[in-house]
Amino acid sequence: MRICLLSESNLRQPLCSQSEYPTEMDDSHHQFPEDWRIRPPSIEEIPPGVCVIQCDASYKNGITGISTIIKTQGRQYEPIEYSSRSKGPIHAELTSISKAIKRLSLLKLPNNISSVLIYTDCLYAFNFIEEIWVAKCDYIKKALSEIEVAMLPLGDYIDIVILHTNTKHNRRLDRRAKRKRESIESAKRKQIADRIERVETAIVRSREIMILENGNDYRALPRENGFPPGYLVTLDPPGCQCPWWKHKWAEKGEIIIRARALPCKHICALSEYLKEDIYGLFSKQIGRMD
Ligand SMILES: [Zn+2]
Repeated sequence: MRICLLSESNLRQPLCSQSEYPTEMDDSHHQFPEDWRIRPPSIEEIPPGVCVIQCDASYKNGITGISTIIKTQGRQYEPIEYSSRSKGPIHAELTSISKAIKRLSLLKLPNNISSVLIYTDCLYAFNFIEEIWVAKCDYIKKALSEIEVAMLPLGDYIDIVILHTNTKHNRRLDRRAKRKRESIESAKRKQIADRIERVETAIVRSREIMILENGNDYRALPRENGFPPGYLVTLDPPGCQCPWWKHKWAEKGEIIIRARALPCKHICALSEYLKEDIYGLFSKQIGRMD
């Protein structure tokens, strides 16, 4: 596998310099029209033995929609969308590239493929892959190594060329990626609404509970027929001795509790008793988008 990395800055050079490669690889090498450096070819233009990948990501607030198109001579494979958690737009674009390559290695491609052209419209992602920039963040490093790993199954006999295309050549992909992201966002909003409803139910049920204060300890027990000592309950960190909380959260670490746990009725009763806003206390858990 050879990886040729190209940018608009070296447009005047041949797409791949013959002298860079061992001579036995030369006969599999394709010469491509100059404008393919920035414009992905149509399926009619693609010669035998060449595969074209276009990938794009749409990123917002940690949520990413990814769209990929794979084309060979006379054939476009069904576009596929993916979702992903990303740390930022560049991370998202790098992930779109590794997803597209992974998909490529799973497809039954014509067995004469010797060149793969991968188009990204993200110059930043391109610069990282080309090592014009050196990745400092761990997540960018990881995304770059995922691209390398994704390329392995393609074998040694395929040239992989990364190209930077203009966004205007990626419009359709861009729209598909955005639609995917919006559908994930709407599913996340529904999850948040469900969590709010669960907290509301716990608040209603918390009215059956009374709190007994003893020094810095608070104990929760039923108003009717409850008898001491009751369940020890805390707000910071959130915790309760009731069976539901024990089963669901007691074994989990505080970081996970602070990220994901929703309050039981006893915690809701204590927040009411201490005049704390339960939605404020659990805002992270309720609003999480992961
Ligand atoms: Zn409880």
